[in-house]
Amino acid sequence: MTEADIRSLLAEFGASLFARGFSVGSAGNISVRLEDGGYLITPTNSCLGRLDPARIARLDADFGHIGGDKPSKEVFMHRAFYRARADAGAVVHLHSTMATAIACLAEPDAANPIPPLTPYFVMRVGRRLPLVPYYRPGDPAMEPAIAAAAADARAVLLANHGPVVSGKTLTDAVYAAEELEEAARLALLLRGATPRLLTGAQVDDLLTTFG
Ligand SMILES: [Zn+2]
Repeated sequence: MTEADIRSLLAEFGASLFARGFSVGSAGNISVRLEDGGYLITPTNSCLGRLDPARIARLDADFGHIGGDKPSKEVFMHRAFYRARADAGAVVHLHSTMATAIACLAEPDAANPIPPLTPYFVMRVGRRLPLVPYYRPGDPAMEPAIAAAAADARAVLLANHGPVVSGKTLTDAVYAAEELEEAARLALLLRGATPRLLTGAQVDDLLTTFG
């Protein structure tokens, strides 16, 4: 894929996520790692529903701004993932309602705030979804906390804020963010019930079979 193709796809996914209510206003940001080691990231205060592919911010390999509009203020969340995970080719951060609702629970299971209910959640998001404690938006202490949690997890949930999800490609990261939101919806629907969770052996089998 050329950089122009990736810019177009990023705007297309942004519009799709916005149209379906996964993001509102200027919430949420998306980035992609490019072949030359640099990055694309949605601009600060931009609406995912109305991205101009040509104005998406271009960063160098050290996350310095070298083109397009000014990058998202939450760029450090993306940097934490790329530095922690060599396999991360794209990162999606949303304030999507159901995942954020779980991130606001007073007594979540911090190691596993969304349990393994469906195979697709396990296949897309993985075995673990660590809950990162609350930090004020922009607090520099958030970056090392995310990096530590992301070292052995493809996605994290930021307390009282929302999910940050990585994938090998932009498409993988968007699909994983969508699957995470749907799993959060199921988990909330089943709160107070006794759902039949996937067993450890079933989770192992999925991850062995589908990677
Ligand atoms: Zn945010």
